[in-house]
Amino acid sequence: MLVVSNHSLDCAVERPTAGRGRATKPVVLVLCLMLLGCSTYQGVRFNILSTEEEIRLGQQVSEEIERREELLDNPALQAYVAETGRRLADASPRQDVQYTFKVIDSPENINAFALPGGYMYVYSGLMKLCDNEAELASVMAHEIAHVAGHHHGESMTRQFGYNLLMSIILGEDANALAVLGAELLGTAGAMHYSRGHEREADYLGMDILFRAGYNPEAMLRFLGKMIDEDSKQGGRRSLPIFASHPPTEERVQRLETLVLQYPQPPPGADGLYAERYRREVLDVLKK
Ligand code: ZN
Repeated sequence: MLVVSNHSLDCAVERPTAGRGRATKPVVLVLCLMLLGCSTYQGVRFNILSTEEEIRLGQQVSEEIERREELLDNPALQAYVAETGRRLADASPRQDVQYTFKVIDSPENINAFALPGGYMYVYSGLMKLCDNEAELASVMAHEIAHVAGHHHGESMTRQFGYNLLMSIILGEDANALAVLGAELLGTAGAMHYSRGHEREADYLGMDILFRAGYNPEAMLRFLGKMIDEDSKQGGRRSLPIFASHPPTEERVQRLETLVLQYPQPPPGADGLYAERYRREVLDVLKK
């Protein structure tokens, strides 16, 4: 069975259950991530949150996330992701927030998201899907770009309403925080960005990835993996979400054109860091 949210600012989550297609284990795919452009809303942009409010909101929501999700109990791996994130954050055009990066222990969950204020979470299931550090970095760079692009003020206001956000920012309403946390982690999944935001996060994310010393082609490689994974879950054309979202091919084509603007890595350096990733991440997660 596939459950797809019907939120007006739709972002899809598919939750295949055992027995569907080739899936032997439940795998949650939050397609908002890179595969699909989340929201179809084409309205006027607005950002009503100040940086201070974003940070306050992100702080509160991150505490709620960590009450609900289990962080990976592996300091070395947490440090690896934090270091990868720091490298990317240093290349971000937005420096008025302090980015933090944590791994959630959920091997079946292919997901990552950033909260306002720069709080980012990566699921261990997504890390297992990556073959090298640059692919992981490409997802993180895309998420940093949402923060750098000030996307949360608009998207979260549309998703949750101004009053709910303000009550959380002011620390007045624990229930509101619980509602928001549940929705972010529930079937609706993560943030509901507009298509425009997703395009911007792709462009800016690839730039951050390159500036941080990674091969920008990794973003395309990971997107290809998401497409494959989607096919394994029953074929993308069978998913209702494809009826209401821009074709993935459209995003791939845009990124294929974009990647040509970047120089090839110098001889002897592929900018992927596969060996380091295998040793410090994949071998550890398999244990
Ligand atoms: Zn996105």
